Amino acid sequence: MTFELKQLPFKRDALAPHISARTIDYHYDKHHAGYVDTLNDLVSGTGYENTALEEIILKSFTQEDEQDIFNNAAQVWNHDFFWDSLSPDGGGNPEGELGRLIERDFGSYKDFRDAFEEAGTSEFGSGWVWLVIEAGKLKTVSTTDARLPLLYGQQPLICCDVWEHAYYLDYQNERNSFLTAFLDSLINWEHATEQLSIQGEGTTTAARGYQDAQADFARSGPVDKKAREAADALDDEEGEELRKAEENAADRS
Ligand code: MN
Repeated sequence: MTFELKQLPFKRDALAPHISARTIDYHYDKHHAGYVDTLNDLVSGTGYENTALEEIILKSFTQEDEQDIFNNAAQVWNHDFFWDSLSPDGGGNPEGELGRLIERDFGSYKDFRDAFEEAGTSEFGSGWVWLVIEAGKLKTVSTTDARLPLLYGQQPLICCDVWEHAYYLDYQNERNSFLTAFLDSLINWEHATEQLSIQGEGTTTAARGYQDAQADFARSGPVDKKAREAADALDDEEGEELRKAEENAADRS
């Protein structure tokens, strides 16, 4: 199996002036494509040759002599997720379930923005800032270099690349201005909502969603451990009880 460079989900100039076509040219053609090529070179002829990207990431992370593989595999995953986190029609305050969860877990949309910007600017060197769901609760986190929430049992809904290559041509050293533009004009809430529907909150609903989505899921995001456990539980006696309880609840409502 050879990993392929994911197609950009937008035209190269579609995010301007917030992210210029020139930045996309470098970021996509040099950085992202470079990670894909290097990963393919590194895993060629190894036990990882026919392994899913997420599995390579989780296994290589714990091996001291496989950090090159980890870094390139994780950066492929992160950039795939980052392009999907951007939209020419993005930005602003999400509606619906996601908007409700942001108010519940951050207090307000403004508090979410502050937390996201704080996480992004306080990451000292290269890294990423994320909106994740962990054990049913939304939070913002930052990760260093190629690290990603998958390593810590957190499910990402959105990410922003805060390596300098992501913003330096357009914003020079003003990382904060880049994060503001990301939140105001680019953040793709449709993608976040889709991820939320896949990840759920570790409930039996999420478990069913996981089973339904499993076939085309491999590159769309990791599966909540709890959702996996719930999916397994659905197959045994406990699952039978859960189903009955849900049906009773549905009858009452
Ligand atoms: Mn990047």
